Amino acid sequence: MQAVSLVVIGSVAYDAIETPHGKRERTLGGSCTYIALTASYFAKTSIVGVVGEDFAEEDKAFLSSRGVDLEGLEQVPGKTFFWSGVYSADMNDRTTLQTDLNVFADFQPKLPASYAEMPYLFLGNIQPALQLGVQKQMTKARFVGGDTMNLWINLGKESLIETISHWDFLLINDSEARMLSGETNLRKAAEKILSYGPNTVVIKRGEYGAMLFREDTFFMVPGYLLESVFDPTGAGDCFAGGFTGYLVERGFDLRGKNVNMRDLHRAVIYGSVMGSFCCEDFGVERLRTLTRQEIDQRFDDFRRFTAF
Ligand code: AMP
Repeated sequence: MQAVSLVVIGSVAYDAIETPHGKRERTLGGSCTYIALTASYFAKTSIVGVVGEDFAEEDKAFLSSRGVDLEGLEQVPGKTFFWSGVYSADMNDRTTLQTDLNVFADFQPKLPASYAEMPYLFLGNIQPALQLGVQKQMTKARFVGGDTMNLWINLGKESLIETISHWDFLLINDSEARMLSGETNLRKAAEKILSYGPNTVVIKRGEYGAMLFREDTFFMVPGYLLESVFDPTGAGDCFAGGFTGYLVERGFDLRGKNVNMRDLHRAVIYGSVMGSFCCEDFGVERLRTLTRQEIDQRFDDFRRFTAF
């Protein structure tokens, strides 16, 4: 029997990043890359995506070294998705300088047979039509979540809302939650997004933490206070990997009547922990050395500094 795996779709990219701490001209990135790398600390992870002929063997080897299943990663003629961004002095704002979809522009994901019956699916940030296309091929999925960003909200709110309406949970940052819902108050924004279909919404607030909303309850955590933030790129995706990976590790069912709220809250903490580690170095660098022991230690730190 096939081991249960979390299927992740999203961008697999090369990024150019500039923060007050320095610059990288071309470094491994992409929503799928960050999510799969972080989720792999908790669960078996299988990715769906596309890269160009310029994608380095050593980058594939890094993903494989974390146990990420690459059967659904196609390599085709052309260039890998490229994104570049620059951060403000306090790193709370980021300007996108360039988004080149490249091989993602014509990508028609065809899921390997071994993925199609998996129960867990996370749709990382990429064109909403691709997210929906993958979800339709996952005939047995009983746990579907996803992420999005301002570009896709600006390009077509209606089709994005249609895509999201089939999800159990949405992870989104605060400014994008406001844009998507048209509400400035975050509690109202969450309520509106829940009305689109998901039963759970997590609003990420960068260094200020995260808030989880369901119909009848909410939960808030502060961000982990890092001594130095090097590069926040991918922190949102690492949150997604920690949050989703932990729920998969627990065999969580978000659709049942008896949702274990304590586990759901722990998932928010693991998301915050993974997001914080991501910021400690450029790009995916911190994930080359990070251990599960360090993750669990920081989880315990969180418990200590929020208990009262
Ligand atoms: P985050 O900082 O969590 O928003 O994630 C940053 C990553 O998202 C980078 O590695 C980019 O390659 C990727 N990215 C940026 N814009 C897009 C986009 N429009 N679609 C898909 N991935 C993107």
